[in-house]
Amino acid sequence: MAEATGSDTVTVGVPQETFPGERRIALVPAGVAALKKAGLEVIIQQGAGASAGFPDSEYEEAGAGLVSDRTKVFETADIVLQVRTGGANLDHWQADLDQLREGQTLIGMCDPLGQSQLMTAVAERGVTCFSLELIPRITRAQSMDVLSSMATVAGYKAVLIAAETLPRMFPMMMTAAGTIAPAKVLVVGAGVAGLQAIASARKLGAVVQAYDIRPAVKEEVQSLGAKFVELELEASDSEQSGGYAKAMDEEFYRKQRELMTKVIADSDVVITTAAVPGKKAPVLVTEEMVQGMPDGSVVVDLAAEQGGNCELTAPGEAKAVGGVTIVGCVNLPTTIPYHASQMYSKNITTFLLHLVEEGKLSLDRDDEIIQGTMVTGGGEIRQALVRKILGLDPDEPPPPEPAEEETKEAGTATIPLAGDSDDDSGSEAAAADSGETENNDASEQAETDTNDQKSEG
Ligand code: NAD
Repeated sequence: MAEATGSDTVTVGVPQETFPGERRIALVPAGVAALKKAGLEVIIQQGAGASAGFPDSEYEEAGAGLVSDRTKVFETADIVLQVRTGGANLDHWQADLDQLREGQTLIGMCDPLGQSQLMTAVAERGVTCFSLELIPRITRAQSMDVLSSMATVAGYKAVLIAAETLPRMFPMMMTAAGTIAPAKVLVVGAGVAGLQAIASARKLGAVVQAYDIRPAVKEEVQSLGAKFVELELEASDSEQSGGYAKAMDEEFYRKQRELMTKVIADSDVVITTAAVPGKKAPVLVTEEMVQGMPDGSVVVDLAAEQGGNCELTAPGEAKAVGGVTIVGCVNLPTTIPYHASQMYSKNITTFLLHLVEEGKLSLDRDDEIIQGTMVTGGGEIRQALVRKILGLDPDEPPPPEPAEEETKEAGTATIPLAGDSDDDSGSEAAAADSGETENNDASEQAETDTNDQKSEG
């Protein structure tokens, strides 16, 4: 077994995930090869990929060093890659935080908008943290978009859960024993997960209808062979920039529920994916509506973690109410860990390579992707929206560090890496500079893009 050793080369470390039940890994062997090609060393905690179907031997073949324990990964790595970290791994995060050190870079899903207060401790430790949920939804960043990747997996799995739970088959069948009618599936919310659910349910042979508050998705729904449910609702102002839905008032949702009642009563399966970034999910299926569904019907609620689209949803549980089963889905991507890891790995690798030049982190302060995702750096909270949530002025850059003037060309700054010990003072200067100036741009950018797209706090 190749045991990782210290060197001047930047080392990327991948520890095992510690979130309960988490089976994904942040980097698959193909990702190791891509990072090595860019001049980075890679170390993986021994056995970390096993639960996703990636044995140690494949990592070794791809050129990664295997490290026997988790602490060693944190000790050795300059850049730590994770799936769930920070606020996305609440119960076990403290142990990781204690191991992070100044100058280290952490990349993963941190839930910085939901658990913003945790990011303060990350900043105070001098860790540069990029949160991948904040990848701007722009064409250039599509291959880094972990939310889309994980929503794709979740949409597919939601259909499998529905098919497994429903006491009927999905496809129409004409057999010697009679004709089997196809299952009727309604998908509410036709974003990334919803569109995948439509496609998957269609492939299984169901008759599919879908509704989304954003009229723009009608054509996408139809192109997948589903019928778009037309409700007499004024929804022309329902879309914000970035393609996300806007929060509507309670009267709108009341009317929507009323108009959807009949469609829901006529469905065997209802898959709900409706979400508004930064808000509790709208309640679109009431107890009364569930009671109106045929016995044996299934509601699969993908919004369970955001409070649920169905009034009866219990996160992480499948419960029967009358003859209807309501499944409150939680962390579905981890139930398909091989492909979820493969997609996540491609996203995080593309992101990391975007930050690397000649084997070192090199951050372009004008870059929208960096501005949007860099939550902490140089001892400060950098991301404008997170600053706003924490009561910091999103427009006010953190105070400059003393060494700031020493930094050279505008536009690009090299972030010091842990273990990059050539010249410590120079590294600190670079960090201070890059952090301070990036924040200035990040604040403005986040106000115009991320704020609109992701959350209103
Ligand atoms: P999401 O998870 O925030 O929401 C899921 C869906 O729920 C959305 O389509 C939303 O319109 C819908 N919804 C909200 N309230 C509803 C209601 N009351 N009734 C019915 N539906 C409701 O969104 P998402 O899936 O992450 O992405 C949404 C959109 O973002 C995509 O469809 C796309 O346009 C855009 N997007 C762009 C990129 C990119 O350009 N790189 C990447 C991914 C997504």
